[in-house]
Amino acid sequence: MHRMEQNPFRNAMAQLEAAARALRGRGERETEKRQRAVTLQMLRQPQREIHVTIPVTMDDGRTRIFRGYRVQYNNARGPYKGGIRFHQRVDLDEVRALAFWMTIKCAVADVPFGGGKGGVVVDPKALSRGELERLSRAYVRGIADVIGPHKDVPAPDINTNSTIMGWMSDEFIAFITSEVQKGKNVPHSLRVKPFDSSILRATFTGKSVSDGGSEGREEATGRGGLYVLQAVLAKRKAERNTTLPLLKGRGGQEGLTVAVQGFGNVGYNVAKALVQAGFTVVAVSDSRGGIYVPGGVNPQLTMACKKEKGYLAGCYCSGSVCDLTKGRQISQEELLELPVAILVPAALENVITKENAPKIKANVILEMANGPTTPEADEILRERGITVIPDVLANCGGVTVSAFEWEQNLKGEHWAEEAVNRKLRTKMEAATDAVWEAAKAYGTTLRTAAFTLAVERILQSGEHGRPGD
Ligand code: NAD
Repeated sequence: MHRMEQNPFRNAMAQLEAAARALRGRGERETEKRQRAVTLQMLRQPQREIHVTIPVTMDDGRTRIFRGYRVQYNNARGPYKGGIRFHQRVDLDEVRALAFWMTIKCAVADVPFGGGKGGVVVDPKALSRGELERLSRAYVRGIADVIGPHKDVPAPDINTNSTIMGWMSDEFIAFITSEVQKGKNVPHSLRVKPFDSSILRATFTGKSVSDGGSEGREEATGRGGLYVLQAVLAKRKAERNTTLPLLKGRGGQEGLTVAVQGFGNVGYNVAKALVQAGFTVVAVSDSRGGIYVPGGVNPQLTMACKKEKGYLAGCYCSGSVCDLTKGRQISQEELLELPVAILVPAALENVITKENAPKIKANVILEMANGPTTPEADEILRERGITVIPDVLANCGGVTVSAFEWEQNLKGEHWAEEAVNRKLRTKMEAATDAVWEAAKAYGTTLRTAAFTLAVERILQSGEHGRPGD
């Protein structure tokens, strides 16, 4: 992969500058222009960055020290919001970029949050379950002073899930409750009288339902991606922009072929949602390789096989999958260049580069991962007429249902899955409409349009935000 050659924060800033250029000269009044310049300047750096040193007792009794971060990028529109990533290659520039993209994404999704992100430098696969739990709890104690339901609301990201959110939420509630009991220095926003710890559950989203999570959150990012894709395809069709051969499909969206890179929470759920909607997912991959099944993979059976074997490669011929279809193993690079209608990167950043962009055959790229396309690759794809549905739109279903979870926790409610999915679809269609209209108004790609929309919404909030709010 080409990840290391690229600095995600520099790429993120290049995307912001493209939006700044599109917005240049907009706004009749001088004051509006000046305000926009301030908003853009605020968005060129994070408001606060926290580094934490995390001692963890390992199973052999030794103490290992881990490094963690929380970047609070911007809270003009509401509390900071963003996932926590556990990965051996986490670094501050990556967390910064992800926190910035969350700021843009929350504005595009029109949820009442700003942007943040957390990360711990660790290979979680090398830890036991007990070590992972102790690390998760220790990280939360490290950032407990700066998070809370009205301050900063974390969620899952790569290698973190609802179980880890449950541990973190539990640790945070226990920590604050004990501080309150000791009469200690509890953040102002958490000084509720009489003290009611239930509101603190709203500090973490992406929890399991038994820990106060929302119905439909686990699937939300993938399902939201499907809704956005369907909305974009419908718009292309309405505007008679379906001349590209692979997009003709057989009778609309049905049968359109898809390759999905990454088979974790997002990759699996988007594959499942796409297949349920009639698309044919012909290839999936994970960190150890991929499979290509021209007749279509069954995501549920493939996941069951992956769980059994511990990896994906080889799962094309497992049990009933093998009875139905035939396939072969492919490399991660090969997957990106398959002759499919839709390519879905759902793993890490910087996987679509200037080297492989000329070889991509898909007509539409649905960016479910954050930052999968470098700016150079973006330009090549634009010139080649490939529609890139940008991450800040494509994967905003996750944060949208996180916002629903937060709202349910604050109000003490629990919504049915049907209601969650209905609200999600409405939000995804509204976000897609707004981005599509901005692209037409500014004459830009969908990515630059999404950024201009976000900058304008942040500007309209009338706030610049500050840490500690
Ligand atoms: P995850 O840890 O559940 O899954 C990541 C997957 O990527 C795994 O299957 C892993 O094996 C695979 N992978 C890693 N390196 C790969 C490579 N080189 N080639 C192919 N596959 C590879 O993480 P996730 O939560 O699914 O997140 C995936 C992406 O989606 C990230 O960019 C994340 O920031 C983004 N995202 C996640 C959410 C969410 O709700 N979880 C929301 C929005 C965006």
